[in-house]
Order: sequence, then structure tokens, then C-alpha cells
Amino acid sequence: MSRIHTERHRTQSIGWLRAAVLGANDGIVSTASLIIGVAAANATQSAVLVAGVAGLVAGAMSMAAGEYVSVSSQSDTEQADIARERVELATDGARETEELAGIYVRRGLDAELAQQVARQLMAKDALGAHTRDELGISEVASARPLQAAIASALAFIVGAGLPLFSAWVSPEQYLVQVVGATSLLFLVVLGGLAAYTGGAGIIRGIMRVSFWGALAMAITAGVGKLFGVAV
Ligand SMILES: [Zn+2]
Repeated sequence: MSRIHTERHRTQSIGWLRAAVLGANDGIVSTASLIIGVAAANATQSAVLVAGVAGLVAGAMSMAAGEYVSVSSQSDTEQADIARERVELATDGARETEELAGIYVRRGLDAELAQQVARQLMAKDALGAHTRDELGISEVASARPLQAAIASALAFIVGAGLPLFSAWVSPEQYLVQVVGATSLLFLVVLGGLAAYTGGAGIIRGIMRVSFWGALAMAITAGVGKLFGVAV
């Protein structure tokens, strides 16, 4: 009885994690900056909250739309490749068997064994074997536009909800400071988590995310202050 390979490789979750972290990071930075900018322009707390909710909805929809469009075009390319492969398999099976055997030889099998493997896989599921080993499209990594869109919209909503919650519970006169400080804290935690699960340097991950987040919030606070004085 062979030991089931239970070890979970990072690559399996990296796709989802990357999209989720980027979405949440975007949610925190864009919504916190929006809230701080509007608050710096001397808007009331309720006006700030309305702007924050509008920013959350608009951001989530644009993330979903962007992800859906980009993953759909990836899916279209994959489907077109698979359709071309199906035609090639139907028109020239012998050459396709050679091609598959060649792939296995390049991966280290000796020619005879590669031939045998290629023939058996072609007999079992020719299109599946070529899709996986020639085109590099695997079941795990194949494009799922709707799932990707929903995942990144949800990640954005979770991210945006954090500064929005801070703005809601904060005393009105300290709103800019409270949202700024808590959002930076959320970014530090997110940056560290992303770096840790991605196997990268945690300090560098934290510095990178919090630097850009702080810069975005500082710039919008400045713009908001300018508008506050002008209006
Ligand atoms: Zn092929």
C-alpha cells in the first residue's frame, strides 16, 4: 500500500492566495485613502461613510469585472489551443504520438519507455495527455473566470470593510488618524501573511505593502486638505 502523498505544495494555493491578497490589499489602500481624503476635506462622518461604502461597491465591481475579463481571455486562449490540438490529433495521430514521446524523452525517459508511455496515454485519453503535457493546461490551473471574479471581489470587500469599520467606530475628530493607523496595521499583517505563505522575506513584504499604502493615504489626505480649504 503506497503512502498517499499528502504534502500540500505552495503552488496549489499560490494562485488563489495571490488574487485574494492583491484584492484585499487594493480594498484597504483604495478605501482607506478615499475615506481619509474625504475626511481631510472636512466632510461629516456620515458623508465619509457614504463615500466609503460607494468606494467599496465600485471597487469590488471593478475588481470583479477586470478579473473576469482577463481570466476569460486566458480561458479563450486555452480553449482555442485545445480545439487546435483536437484537430491535430484527428488528422495525424502518429505524428502526435511521436511528439508526446519526444516530450517524455526531454523529461528524462529513455526513448523506448517514452514511446510505450505515449502510446498508452494516447490510447487512454489522447486529448487529455496533450492538453496536460504539451499545452501545460492542468485541471488545477485552468482558467475559471467567474470563480476568479467572485474571489477577487470578495477579497476587495473584506479589505475595504476594515478601514470602513474603523471610520464607523472612530470619534469624528480623530477619524483621519484612526483610519490611517488601523489601515497601516491591516497592511502590515496582510503583507507579512502574504510574504510568509508565499515563502518570501516577511520584513520585505511588510515594508513594500505598508510603504505604498502609507504613500497613497498621505497623498489623498493632502489633496483632501487642499479641497477642504478651497471649498
Ligand atoms: Zn500535440
